[in-house]
Amino acid sequence: MSTIANDTMNDKRRIYLSSPTMHGDEQRFVAEAFDTNWVAPLGPNVNNFETEMAAYTKCGYAAALSSGTAAIHLGLKLLGVGQGDIVFVSSLTFSASCNPIVYEKAQPVFIDAEPDTWNMSPRALEKAFEKYPTPKAVVVVHLYGTPAKLDEILKICQRHHVPVLEDAAESLGSTYDGKHTGTFGQIGIYSFNGNKIITTSGGGMLVSKEEALVQEARTLSTQARDPARHYQHSKIGYNYRMSNVLAGIGRGQLMHLDRHVQLKRAIYARYQEAFADMDEIAMNPLNPRGEANNWLSCMTIKEGSSVTPNLVMDALETENIESRPIWKPMHLQPVFSACDFFNHNESDTSVSEDIFARGVCLPSDIKNTEVNMEKIIGIVRQLFGK
Ligand SMILES: *Cc1c(COP(=O)(O)O)cnc(C)c1O
Repeated sequence: MSTIANDTMNDKRRIYLSSPTMHGDEQRFVAEAFDTNWVAPLGPNVNNFETEMAAYTKCGYAAALSSGTAAIHLGLKLLGVGQGDIVFVSSLTFSASCNPIVYEKAQPVFIDAEPDTWNMSPRALEKAFEKYPTPKAVVVVHLYGTPAKLDEILKICQRHHVPVLEDAAESLGSTYDGKHTGTFGQIGIYSFNGNKIITTSGGGMLVSKEEALVQEARTLSTQARDPARHYQHSKIGYNYRMSNVLAGIGRGQLMHLDRHVQLKRAIYARYQEAFADMDEIAMNPLNPRGEANNWLSCMTIKEGSSVTPNLVMDALETENIESRPIWKPMHLQPVFSACDFFNHNESDTSVSEDIFARGVCLPSDIKNTEVNMEKIIGIVRQLFGK
């Protein structure tokens, strides 16, 4: 199989996991910002990007911020999270989902994944509520773009009167019951980091149906100035607003989000088809109640196989192809070793640990050609002797 791409021009170029894809519209909005000298963390691109994102996701209201992490931080503050509070959060995620909990001196409690969607396990969540009946908030992640079991999770949280913050950093464009992820919780967040489905190089968005919450996020993100002519402050603010230049990139990208989602879904379908005859490989699960944006296509290797995730990643890297491990669960991180964790299983091994041990994130760059895909698939199949 390794001969397939050797006689193509693409062989000289690295195949990426998920890199930015620009279209030209971005530059038009950025040029406008320069021409009008709106080179600041405010301006028409910021306002328009918020309005356009709110229209796209039907989230209600949106505040453009400097990162997804900043959006989670402000979201937690708006939900009243403070010193000593307990916050439940998915364990199988990127550290940005839970770091802001610690910024506020609150205590993350990690909830295991379930095998059906790889997201927060409702069963483990119930167990957590038994021990900690009054957490201040629950942070639910939609991993790799697959919607979580929102119906079950929201019901549990409503029963306990605890607000949900949806970390939809990876799932912009994904829907559940026909509605966009990020719009189910009291607050949702998106990320526009360089590797996400659309990017502003760096950026994020906080969304909510409640206009007052979003307005407060804008205030806190611009140093919390009181409405007075002189510089007066009644609370501590942050410098978290999105720049008008970067919002221009976001506006251009948003015009192409549907296309990006289509291409990501096609990549997932291509892998699924290519490995359909192999019981050693399973693709990351989807949620039948939703439509994933398939931000990253991931595979797991059947337990007991002699092929390990490291072997797959090494074989791809040798051919200048980028892949990546599954996020290492937060409850296994040295920095969070003192935090409590609730397992989906009764056994010692958690679901998130098992996915981490057997999984690989495959190249999911929307600029990948069919020749690229054949090369990646060929390398993986060959490892398994196919
Ligand atoms: C990328 C990401 C974030 C953080 O977003 P930034 O814009 O990089 O700060 C948060 N949560 C998850 C699950 C992410 O993948």
